[in-house]
Amino acid sequence: MAAGLLPIEEALSRLLAGVAPLGSERVGIDEAGGRILARPVRALRTQPPFDASAMDGYAIRGEDVAAPPARLAVVGIAPAGRPFAGAIGPGEAVRIFTGAPVPAGADSVLIQENTRIVAPGVVEALEPVRTGANIRRRGLDFTEGEPLLEAGRLVDASALALAASANHAELDVVRRPLVAVLATGDELLAPGSAVGEGQIVSSNTFGVALIARQAGARTLDLGIAPDDREAIGAAIDRALDAGAEIIVTSGGASVGDHDLVRDVLSAKGGELDFWKIAMRPGKPLMAGTLAGRRILGLPGNPVASLVCSHVFLKPLVARLAGRAHVADVRTGVFGGPVAANDLRQDYMRARVVETDGVLVATPSPVQDSSMLRILAEAGALVIREPFAPAAVAGDPCRLLMLR
Ligand code: AMP
Ligand code: MG
Repeated sequence: MAAGLLPIEEALSRLLAGVAPLGSERVGIDEAGGRILARPVRALRTQPPFDASAMDGYAIRGEDVAAPPARLAVVGIAPAGRPFAGAIGPGEAVRIFTGAPVPAGADSVLIQENTRIVAPGVVEALEPVRTGANIRRRGLDFTEGEPLLEAGRLVDASALALAASANHAELDVVRRPLVAVLATGDELLAPGSAVGEGQIVSSNTFGVALIARQAGARTLDLGIAPDDREAIGAAIDRALDAGAEIIVTSGGASVGDHDLVRDVLSAKGGELDFWKIAMRPGKPLMAGTLAGRRILGLPGNPVASLVCSHVFLKPLVARLAGRAHVADVRTGVFGGPVAANDLRQDYMRARVVETDGVLVATPSPVQDSSMLRILAEAGALVIREPFAPAAVAGDPCRLLMLR
């Protein structure tokens, strides 16, 4: 381990070690979209539950129209939801609409385009019909008891509609982890404040919380704690009381702040796993556990806090939330020269344009980890392995896509 810095891959696997999806909760079908199924979904009914017309037309006996034109007596009407109660006999038809049960005695539906009314109550078939045409058989979609959706599946629009159609008013989904987020720093103010001398507006936690929610978490904003052990400790207690599965702090993790957050966690009996990783931005990243909760201490520098959230917080949340986490890493080429890298894995903010199907990434010449605007303008982070040699335009690179 170079200079006591933990490689990113190892830090990530240590962070995720022993982390399993949370248990399940039952939610109403109208709240289940976007969640992960904790249990498989079976059909509570058969769909369609009866032989249904697939078209607007006439329910008939195929043999009656084998030699068109053929005249039929219209003996009733069957709109969707209002079945025709009787049965049809030879030479008879029932006016039928899409979704209505096909009446007894009929074996086919003649579409209305292939008919004409020749007298009140008399329809003429202009074409023959294949027996069974335009009928959706009972159980065409699914049959009661059949498995429809697997546990672990994302409830997307089609899964949600399918579950509703199978008559589920509620679904068992994986609980969403609660992520409590705390900003630390004497200099920080909430957005919208009157900013005095030496003060800045706290930004990190808003981006961090959004990344957590997008990965499947609920979030609790613990606000801003000054650089004070008691205040930080009180905020962490609030997170514990609220049942947070993950407690994220920002700032106060570098030597300049005397590692306040680390001190507070240790004093509370927390176990620290690592606090320095071979990453830029983000060297002072801290991870550990406290009272069974995961602690992630993010660096205060805004870009570092967000990049570390993409790389570490996202997969941690996803794991607890029962989601597959696959970082969107693609291959591109450099748009300009870059210098050789040092011992830390680098995540360089880069503008990305697609040219002839190739992603061309041009890292910003300035990569200061306080500069959020460059991050907001970046389409991707170019991942530079430790000690990667200098590269020139056209050389391949790996891109962690941001958009
Ligand atoms: P620290 O890790 O506390 O030493 O902070 C490093 C740098 O990040 C300092 O310039 C802080 O002012 C800045 N910083 C810390 N927390 C935040 C925050 N929540 N929002 C914006 N900047 C922050
Ligand atoms: Mg600070």
